[in-house]
Amino acid sequence: MKLQNEFYKNVKAMSYDLTESCSLNCDYCFTHSCHEKKVLDQSIFKKSIEEWCCNSIHNSLELTWWGGEPYIEFETMKELTKYCKEIATKYNKSIAFGATTNGVQASDEMLKWIRDNNIATLISLDGIKEAHDKHRKFPNGVGSWDVIYKNIQKFKDTKTSFSIRASISVDTLPYLFESFKFYINELKVYAFAFSPVHEDDWNDKAFEILEEQLDKIIDYAIKIKKEKDISVDLYHINQNVKALLKPKKKDDFFNPCGAGNTFFGMAVDGTIWPCHRFNKHGLSFEERIKKEACVGYYDKDLTYIDLKSPVLADVLTLLPNINDHCKDCIIQKYINCNTGCVATNYDLTGCSTKCLNSNCVYQKILLDKAKEFIYKLLKNDIKILDYFGLQGMNNATCNCYQSQFNPVPEIVAKFLDLSRRIIATNDLEKTDEQIRLENEVLQRTVNMLLNK
Ligand code: SF4
Ligand code: SF4
Repeated sequence: MKLQNEFYKNVKAMSYDLTESCSLNCDYCFTHSCHEKKVLDQSIFKKSIEEWCCNSIHNSLELTWWGGEPYIEFETMKELTKYCKEIATKYNKSIAFGATTNGVQASDEMLKWIRDNNIATLISLDGIKEAHDKHRKFPNGVGSWDVIYKNIQKFKDTKTSFSIRASISVDTLPYLFESFKFYINELKVYAFAFSPVHEDDWNDKAFEILEEQLDKIIDYAIKIKKEKDISVDLYHINQNVKALLKPKKKDDFFNPCGAGNTFFGMAVDGTIWPCHRFNKHGLSFEERIKKEACVGYYDKDLTYIDLKSPVLADVLTLLPNINDHCKDCIIQKYINCNTGCVATNYDLTGCSTKCLNSNCVYQKILLDKAKEFIYKLLKNDIKILDYFGLQGMNNATCNCYQSQFNPVPEIVAKFLDLSRRIIATNDLEKTDEQIRLENEVLQRTVNMLLNK
């Protein structure tokens, strides 16, 4: 059997759709209403795994089971995971497995298998019941929150680790802060990843509500830190804080998520896409291979056919370059956004490298909130290192910190010193004018630290 396949040379991560069926019918899902009973072609999958392990330059690979809902095909998932491990061993590789799930299924056997096989499990839960049930419904229209909540308790009772990811729609925005408190106080989950449903109408009012909700979340995270000494991970905001406080490495500049470069997704019929999201469910194999985003497929002899996808070519132009539109953007200065999610861009603008306005506004809000987060931490005398565990920084006032962000270190050092003195007098009674001036000093310190 021919195993040489240049395609996999640079590939570190793959996602495989085990099925296109799903137990839910969430109205914002990019596969919405197209849940057919198609399952992964196992001979193609096995060929793909063997070629990947044989050809990849990476020794540690990452495989995510996708769908539809992958746990509908739990028996196949178990069998194929075992198969992958054997093949990985044969080629001296290791594979870390993950699965993204709606959380509708959680049998004892499944949870044990997840634990035994270290499957990084990401459960979609959009917050409190009022928010989650607006969109994440069973095909009969009933909300799924009660079932997911019960199943998350099973994960917790059996000490099966999991993460939570929330999608924020415009109509669930007003519940964001309540949802955050629910994760912390009821689920005892202290990491909070969220991303917007860009298909919604993200108008000025929506972004205003988002900002209000994030302000409350940041204040609450600080309260939790002060009262319980727990650093809540506000995932995307924390990423921005870290990006603000640590300079980007040169290699970090050009490859936002790896889609189309180190990461690809395979559909049930063996067609390959720059990532899982480019693949549209409800299409026949013949229709799929005509799509300009389809990267390649396996023919009847299990030979890989490269389709010279123009969409992939577009995505790859981002690797050695920064998109013109992003060159002068403040976001690109700190984080590797460089066009944002190319799949969402493609869906909503028709071009993978055309930035989506709602994403640009969203990214700028996250960056602003990250700055405010730092400012509020300083004001509350919480050490930045203690909160974020940033390597290479002793605390908010160390030399390393100053030299990274301050073009005029002596001035910043003075302001930092002044800020520390102000913070030390937090408990004293002060006039309104004093408070105003002190806040100005603190704000100025942060602005200088962040080179604003
Ligand atoms: S926020 Fe927009 S303009 Fe800025 S880097 Fe990201 S995609 Fe580019
Ligand atoms: S292109 Fe978008 S959907 Fe695909 S992996 Fe990257 S961020 Fe995720």
